[in-house]
Order: sequence, then C-alpha cells, then structure tokens
Amino acid sequence: MGTAAEKYEVVIGLEIHTQLLTNTKAFSTDEAEYGAMPNTNISVVNLGYPGTLPRHNKEAINMALKVGIACGCDITPYCLYARKNYFYADLPKGYQITQDKTPLCENGFVAIKKENGEEKNIQLTRIHLEEDSGKSIHDMDMYHSLIDYNRAGTTLIEIVTEPVIKTGEEAGLFVSEVRKLVRYLEVCDGNMEEGSLRCDANISVMLKGASEFGTKVEVKNMNSISNVRKAIEYETARQIESVEANIPVVQETRSFDAVKGETFSMRAKEVATDYRYFPEPDLPPLVVSQEWINETREGMPKLPGELYKEFTTVYGLSHYDAQVITENKETAQYYLQILEHTTNYKAAANYLMGAVRGYLNRNAIELSDFALQPLQIAEIIRLIDEGVISNAVGEQTLFPALVESPSRKAKELAEELNVIQNSDDDFIIDLVQQVLGEFPDKVEAYKNGKKGLLGLFMGEVMKRSGGKADPKMATKLLREALGE
Ligand code: ADP
Ligand code: MG
Repeated sequence: MGTAAEKYEVVIGLEIHTQLLTNTKAFSTDEAEYGAMPNTNISVVNLGYPGTLPRHNKEAINMALKVGIACGCDITPYCLYARKNYFYADLPKGYQITQDKTPLCENGFVAIKKENGEEKNIQLTRIHLEEDSGKSIHDMDMYHSLIDYNRAGTTLIEIVTEPVIKTGEEAGLFVSEVRKLVRYLEVCDGNMEEGSLRCDANISVMLKGASEFGTKVEVKNMNSISNVRKAIEYETARQIESVEANIPVVQETRSFDAVKGETFSMRAKEVATDYRYFPEPDLPPLVVSQEWINETREGMPKLPGELYKEFTTVYGLSHYDAQVITENKETAQYYLQILEHTTNYKAAANYLMGAVRGYLNRNAIELSDFALQPLQIAEIIRLIDEGVISNAVGEQTLFPALVESPSRKAKELAEELNVIQNSDDDFIIDLVQQVLGEFPDKVEAYKNGKKGLLGLFMGEVMKRSGGKADPKMATKLLREALGE
C-alpha cells in the first residue's frame, strides 16, 4: 500500500464480551459451568416461561465492579436494566436483559505499552453487565441447526472502547491487557478459543485530518490475539484500497477467516436494527453504594500495572523482565515470594525467567505444579552470592538436582554433589602451576603480548578443578604466576 496508506488515518473501537466465572447465571440460580451436557443447566427462568422472574446476582455485580474499579471507571450508583428485544432461536425469551442508558461503569481506561516503549491509555466508553444467549450449532447435523441453552442467561460484561485505537498492534495489546486483568481479578478465564473472551472490532478509515469518521465495518470471530491483529491489518488495507478506487466502504458486519487471513461479508447493515429497548420491569433498580465500592476495592489483588511499576522502580528490573514476570499472577507472586528471602532482585528474576521457565516449558507444566518452593530458589542464589558455588554449577548442577529431590536442602545437596567452590589458595596454585608447566610456548606468547591466552589458561584450570575453583581467585593467581 505504501504511499496510499500514509494518506489515511485508521480509527478502531473494540467491544469485548467477557464471560464471568460466576457459579450461577446472571439472573437465576441455574448453574453456569462451561462444558456441561447440552441443555442440562436450564430452568424456566432462562427458557422464558411466562410468570417467572429474574433476580440480581451479587457475585456477578461484584466481578463487574472489580473490572470497573481496576480500569478507573466511574461507577453508576443507580442502574436500571433494559430489555433488548429481538427474535432468534437461541434467545428463548425473545429479549436479552442488558444495561442500556445506565451502564454499571463509564469512562476509565486501560494502559498499553507498545513495542517501541510508547505508553498509551485506551479510553473506555463503558462496561455493562448483560446476559448471554444460547449457542446455535450449525456443524453437527447436516439438515438441522442444534441449540444448546446452557449458555442462555450466563453473565457477560461488555467492555467498549472509544474509537481511539489506531493500529492492529494497539488493538492486540489492548485485548492482551484486558485478558491479563480479568485473569488477575479471577473473574474470567480469558480463553479466546472457547469464546470466554470475544472481541469485535469496529474499523473505519478517513483521510488524515478529516473532521468526520469514515463508515465503520464491524469484524467478528477473531479467536486469538494474533487474529485480532491480522484481521484489523487486513481490513484496514481493504478499506483503503476500496476508498482509493472510489468505491465507498459499506456499513456491514464481516467475519474473519483465519485460514485465508481475510475478512468476508456476513450481513449488510443498511438500517440500524431497532431493538426497542425499554426498562426491564421485572428487576428492581441496582443501587451501588460507595461502601460497596470501597469493600470491593479492598478485596482486590495488586494489579499487573501496579506490580510492573513496583518491579521496575523498587526492584530495578528492566521493562522486559517486569513485563514477563507480571504476565500472570502466579509468576508475579512466585517472584515476590523469592524476594521474601533474598535482596538479589535481579538474580531472582533471572532464575525465574531462565532456569525455572526453561524447566516448566521443557516439561510442559505450570508454575503451580513446580516442585521447588521460592525459598529454595533464594537459597541457590545465596550460595552463589556467598561464593559457595559458581553460577554455572548453580544453574546446571544444583538446580536440576534440587528439582529431582525437592525435599533436600540446597547446601547439603551441593556438598553431596561435591560442587562446593574451592577458594583455597594451595588447591588453585597447584592447578595453575600444572597448566602453565604444560604450555611453555603459550606462556611465552602471553608474555609477548597475546593477552587473550589468559582465557585458555583459565579454561584449563577450571576444567581440572571440576568446576570447583573460584574463578575470581583463579584469575588472580594465574595473573600473579604469569608475572603481573
Ligand atoms: P453501534 O451503535 O453501531 O453499536 P457504537 O457507537 O455503540 O456503535 O460503537 C461501537 C464501537 O464502535 C465503539 O467501540 C466505538 O468506539 C466504535 N466506533 C464508533 N464509530 C466508529 C467509527 N467510525 N470507526 C471505528 N470505530 C467506531
Ligand atoms: Mg453498540
């Protein structure tokens, strides 16, 4: 696209539907578990039988509040629910209960950090609570569509951004931050493939500096973060190409085909659908007191953004290290637990991101199933810091041995493995003499200026010591023996 693309400004707004991990559904006591036998978690309330009444689910409201508080939203003290009316087979009541004019949360933002280090706050329009529909299944029977009503009435929050996102990269980072946040708060499992977190992207293009947005297209069915990014990049290029060819963009809903990497039209939106919203008469207004908000805030864990700040400022970690360690709550907590036993913050980060992560990846296990306690990692670090073992022995010998025998004490195991570093002068001087005696011509060359040969002598000394010579001491003694 090159120069054509540079004439345009891309405008993107995202809508993220997040399935909350409530035990029961949004307005009934039906179980909300995922993956149950089809049509077993249903009752008269969610099937829309006449005379049945919905009621508020405090757990659902608490979870939505947490997300709103975490994003710095204004919480609406008095919410009326609304009915959004439409006819579809997976919507047995004929309407969805949602929040229309009085969403639980308004404004607020989610911060993203771009690859070039730039930070940007993505402004939110609203976060509202609503119920999900049932699920239509079109690919299990050749002649019929099947419907599973288990999902009907489960709790969703919809997070809507302002049209302030500019690129696929920003959109991907935003979704990734939201997913991280809801996982930290333990309100959603964040699984995009199973649809617990679904993202729709509204995309338009306009000439740079234009005062009015272009016509927007809504893209659905992106089941991973990289697909969000790819779909937006494809769609942006398609719209620019279309406008350049004087073909106006039509307002429509498109779907992303991950295999082809393309979007295709699902349905045109010639006229805005009239959902005939009106206040839900069966639910009392939701009143959220300041006290309720405060209580909720107190029960919240430290959030990834706060931890990132703490890790980069208090503990001096790099952007990269802090980013990786705050990626999920378990890793961040494990890190903080190592720090309860050591002040070598950098070494703790290195161990966690190097040896520990490597081990977990190789064995395909989670940190929660890892055999070593944070204290044991701190002990390895201490042995290195005190010069008892070398760095290399710590990572290559003691760490794997301890993982095999997690009930052992690090120091005892090091003794048993015979890897305690020897900084005893006599032991090292012997080795130095041996090595220099064997390479008289190299010693000559060293004295004539080939200083790089020190590495060779060091290597020999270390090898002969079985990795136990203290490298600092060995270098010092070698230099002395070479007449420096
Ligand atoms: P609708 O009524 O069609 O659902 P909304 O005004 O509710 O549209 O906006 C839905 C989403 O689309 C929001 O995230 C908003 O920021 C975004 N949006 C609105 N207008 C545009 C536009 N012209 N281009 C891109 N995104 C837009
Ligand atoms: Mg909308």
